[in-house]
Amino acid sequence: MDIQPRLLLATEDTTLARTLSWVLKENGYDVVTAIGGPALFDRLEQEEYELIVIDVGNADAGRMDRLASVRRDSRYKDTPVFILADKDFDAVRLAAFDLGVSDVAHRPYRIRELLVRLKAHLRLGRELNRTRSEARSRNEMMEILKEVTAALSPEKIYQVLVRRVAQGLHVGRCSVVLASPGDTTGTVVAAYENPTLRDLRVDLARYPEISRALDSGNTVLVGNVEADPMYQDVRSTWGTGVAGQETRSVIALPFALHGRLAGVFFLRTTSDDPPLNELDLGFAEQVIEAAVAALEKAYDIERAGDGQAQLRVLADTDPLTGCANRRVLDERLQAELDRARRYDQVVTVVLLDVDDFKRINDTHGHIMGDRVLKQLAVLFRRELRTMDFLARYGGEEFVVVLPETGGTGARLLADRILRRVQQHNFGDAAVAVWVTLSAGIATFPDDRAADEESLLKLADENMYKAKRAGRNRYRD
Ligand code: GH3
Ligand code: MG
Ligand code: MG
Repeated sequence: MDIQPRLLLATEDTTLARTLSWVLKENGYDVVTAIGGPALFDRLEQEEYELIVIDVGNADAGRMDRLASVRRDSRYKDTPVFILADKDFDAVRLAAFDLGVSDVAHRPYRIRELLVRLKAHLRLGRELNRTRSEARSRNEMMEILKEVTAALSPEKIYQVLVRRVAQGLHVGRCSVVLASPGDTTGTVVAAYENPTLRDLRVDLARYPEISRALDSGNTVLVGNVEADPMYQDVRSTWGTGVAGQETRSVIALPFALHGRLAGVFFLRTTSDDPPLNELDLGFAEQVIEAAVAALEKAYDIERAGDGQAQLRVLADTDPLTGCANRRVLDERLQAELDRARRYDQVVTVVLLDVDDFKRINDTHGHIMGDRVLKQLAVLFRRELRTMDFLARYGGEEFVVVLPETGGTGARLLADRILRRVQQHNFGDAAVAVWVTLSAGIATFPDDRAADEESLLKLADENMYKAKRAGRNRYRD
């Protein structure tokens, strides 16, 4: 047996306690004896045992009661309980009490046989515990992985990781610090102890274990920070912390993304926490290892997503006004007409053209002309519903698409826009710039407009009618 198994021997027979515990100790057990009921429960409170041996003697009510209490204690659910009993003890009584015990030995005990049976139960108990804890940690890992893969952004994944590892290991402080080997500063991207913290820059000179983990690529486990020479230079900068809150043990676990060291998982305990050991390290390593693939993917998605989204925005919008461009207008209008045909609805387009824009450019300069166009887009957007669609159609021409809107609604909108524009000073107090628009309205369906191209042509014709009629008006 590699680890000395701790065994609790409970009996009221002091002679048996002495002889049996001697034999058991000789055979490699770490034996704790409890004489009488109160001692038994005291011992059970104080420590954990791999094997419990209870002498029920003649099975009187008190001792059977004690046995029952132990059996009901959920902490000892998986612990083998071995019964010692008098010669005429009827094991059937155990079944009547519904006491699942591992085994019963009767007086007089044959020591050799007793040892063999205890050892067998110990092995079974260990096996059972190992399987259970493996299943537990497998379940735990599955749960963590599920949560990690459900989180789409690296930031969210780091948050999940620090929370899961801190809770799994019962440590108060767990954070992720991003840095590369040789860096003098790092960025804390998530901290269990401070869930709202984001992207805090830290001076790595204050965290020699992080630098060491990054430079060596190996995990650094410091069991006792007080005594470790690594902290010699920085210890003076710590000052006196809150009692019980000083760091006691530390794990700095480096991790790589796409083959490059990217940062450190940083676990710290205070004297209030259980100290960190190799098993904790194993758990943390497993979690990180499992999360690395998810992190790499999340970064890839973020990068690709960023790039694609940016490209798309660039491709779709007019840089001056932020409106959709003509290509997107064509797509959108086609989709709206399809929808209108399918659901037997109407769509109206309003084409807006700036009156005498050449003159505005000539009088106030091109830059002022550009500013007018920008401001017009803002004014238009203010008047539109969320379902409406605004595009820059050409130089000083805009198109508004109004789904589920007929001529009446479009005229009201056109009228409102024309008035707003007419009343707006596009310049400033010193040099006022006044602008008017002419608008052409066309509604689908119409005999002259079977598709988006002919609908826009109709709107354009109506706009020219407005120009000819004197500008600053709409026609349909
Ligand atoms: P009308 O109301 O009769 O249509 O007169 P107009 O001056 O608007 O005539 P036209 O449509 O022929 O001229 C449009 C002018 O708008 C021509 C061009 O110099 C100017 N323009 C087109 N795009 C831009 C732009 O992005 N910025 C500026 N500043 N001017 C532009
Ligand atoms: Mg024009
Ligand atoms: Mg014009």
